[in-house]
Amino acid sequence: MVSYKELGLVNTVEMFKKAVAGGYAIPAFNFNNMEQMQAIIQACAETKSPVILQVSSGARKYANQTILRYMAEGAVEYAKELGWEHPQICLHLDHGDTFELCKSCVDMGFSSVMIDASSLPFEENIKLTKQVVEYAHKYDVTVEAELGVLAGVEDDVAAEESHYTKPEEVIEFATRSGCDSLAISIGTSHGAYKFKPEQCKVDPKTGRLVPPPLAFDVLHEIEKKLPGFPIVLHGSSSVPQEEVDTINKYGGALKAAVGIPEEQLREAAKSAVCKINIDSDSRLAMTAAIRKVFAEKPAEFDPRKYLGPARDSMKKLYMHKIINVLGSAGKAE
Ligand SMILES: [Zn+2]
Repeated sequence: MVSYKELGLVNTVEMFKKAVAGGYAIPAFNFNNMEQMQAIIQACAETKSPVILQVSSGARKYANQTILRYMAEGAVEYAKELGWEHPQICLHLDHGDTFELCKSCVDMGFSSVMIDASSLPFEENIKLTKQVVEYAHKYDVTVEAELGVLAGVEDDVAAEESHYTKPEEVIEFATRSGCDSLAISIGTSHGAYKFKPEQCKVDPKTGRLVPPPLAFDVLHEIEKKLPGFPIVLHGSSSVPQEEVDTINKYGGALKAAVGIPEEQLREAAKSAVCKINIDSDSRLAMTAAIRKVFAEKPAEFDPRKYLGPARDSMKKLYMHKIINVLGSAGKAE
């Protein structure tokens, strides 16, 4: 049993309290490898932004849960080395699906876990979430739960269509489960293909697809039911079209990839939404940078020569999100 406190990590209690009160959101960036972790920490150290490092089930399979935990420990020391005196870094399990998995993360030094039982019936969702909460809270580990279903594919999490969270259920769910934050479904979705072209309008000026707006009415209804309660948005990448264009220009084949417009996320961040999950955008930035190097320098075979630019590009993206979308810069001086 390792406590996250010994590793210099923090849970989400203070982070979320300040974010809800301050009208901004904490970035929750997924990581699978060293370059991504470095880019996240560089961006957060430079902007003094609190951050949630997320480990998905795909990341655990790809990189190994133990390695990622040690990387997070390294991330804290790295942040200090970069001159961030009091780094506010949370290590979070993204989409935990069993009590055993959540427990193993708590025991290993994670400071926060998500139990996603949103595919189960309401009562069973409460029951499993409560079981995780009871264990995690013994060690001061915070728990995110989910109510409602998001469409899209994220690692092993897949659903055909989304079902918005029902505002009339949130009070009972939060009270009985004891969760610390709640992921809701208001139209965001996992992956780089968040909407089918037929769900979108076409911008006459650019010819680009414009997705349907998020259900802010549902969000506001939930906020009214649970004043000040931390709300989480999953699947909130914006799928920057310039990255998609770069990928396609250099041999990629991403068709009609579309995400959540940043203005809408900016608006959401001002509400009780205090954690916004971004994964696909970083994948796109990384892939675009690597494809560019491969196309322009076909003789290059030193991985540092393409992973380096990929890291720089991800850092730029993370800084942009922190400063221009989430508003979390300077909140962890
Ligand atoms: Zn998710």
